[in-house]
Parts: sequence; C-alpha cells; structure tokens
Amino acid sequence: MIALRYEQVVVKQGATEHRRACIDVGRIRLLFCSLWIAVISSASAQSACAWYLPINVSNRQSWEQVRLTKIGEFGLVRKARPGIPAHYHTATDFMRPGDNYENEPIFPAAAGRVISQRDDGPFAQLIVEHVTHDHDTLWTVYEHIADLTVVVGDTVDPFVPIGRFMTKKELSKYGWQFDHVHFEIMKHRPRPLQPTKKTPMRLFKVYNLECYTKAELEKYYYAPHEFFQACWNMASR
Ligand SMILES: [Zn+2]
Repeated sequence: MIALRYEQVVVKQGATEHRRACIDVGRIRLLFCSLWIAVISSASAQSACAWYLPINVSNRQSWEQVRLTKIGEFGLVRKARPGIPAHYHTATDFMRPGDNYENEPIFPAAAGRVISQRDDGPFAQLIVEHVTHDHDTLWTVYEHIADLTVVVGDTVDPFVPIGRFMTKKELSKYGWQFDHVHFEIMKHRPRPLQPTKKTPMRLFKVYNLECYTKAELEKYYYAPHEFFQACWNMASR
C-alpha cells in the first residue's frame, strides 16, 4: 500500500528508476524503497523549474545546445531601417536546432494560456500568458512561426508544440532572415489591440519597437537566458 501510494506522486525520472528497482521485493525492502522514493519526490517537487527552452533540444533546461542568429542576442542594438528607428532587440532569436526543414517544432516555454495569435506569414505570432507558482503573471512571445496548432483561449503545455519553424519553401517565399524563432519574455501585460480583418485574433501588441533605452528594455522584458538560468539554477540546488 505504501509503495502504491508513492507511485502516484512519483513524477521525476530519477525516482521512477528507483521505483522500478524496488518492485517485487520483500516487505521490509519495499518499505525502505518507498521511503527513499518519498525523499527524492519531495526534493524534486520543491526544486522543479517549470520553464523550458521553446526549441527541441535533448535537454530543454540547459543553454548548452542553444545557437542564436548573428544578431539574435537579447539587448543588442538593432540599427535603424526605413520606418523603424534604432532599438534594443527585446528577444532571443533561437536558430533551428537541427536540419529539419519539414516540421521542426516550437514549444511554449511553460504552461499557460494563449491570449493573442496572428498567422499572417512571416510575422505569425503567439502570445501566451503564464501565472507562475508565486502568482506573478508574465507573458511569452513566439514570432516567425508557422502552422500554429493553438488559438486564443487554449491552454498550452510545455511539451506539446504550438507551431513549427518555417519550411524551405516558406523561407524562400518570405526571406531566410526569418529562419529562427524570435522569443520574448515580458514583464508587462501587452497592449490591447483593435483586431483587424487581416489579423482578427491579434488581440495584443508587444513592446518590441518601444525599447530605445536600457531602462525601457528592463521595464518591459526579462533577458531570456538570465531568466531561464535563474530558474534552472534554483532547481539544481
Ligand atoms: Zn528577434
């Protein structure tokens, strides 16, 4: 009975391994194993970090396999171009993690709910609202994505894709500069928008072209690398 009870709360890999090793042994050993599992489970529960990279690498809680585009670093100053003044880059631009140009998935970084979507080609964008375990609300943004699998109001799971990187055909049509996912973590609720015919479910606008000083950048955005690393470090303590 004890073993069964703990079986229900064991969710972490390490603990699962131990549980397997403990099955079908004598009663005393069973009790010992169950207590051991309980210790591991409670440690995991306290230290779990619910945030994951939005790309499909083997360890989504490590920066080791991350590759960014040349100008994809968060906080880089982007030069002025026609109609757009120079501004800070508010995102991290993740490169495609492999050479899958068919269906390379993009995941939400944590559980949450979709509050805005647009799927007009290279500017396709999803905004997801997250409530953290200490009841903070923050927002993640995914841009240049294709084949959205969710709509406004849907809840998302960090292990279920919300879209994919563009295919070669799409990139040839829109431009290869979009061969990445532009990923933002916002501290502020995005600005409400009046939907248009072309983008009827684009209900919010992000602050990506409103950050002209470091102070503005810090007011609206987390640096994704620092944000993730802080969560992962806390979890490994
Ligand atoms: Zn970007």
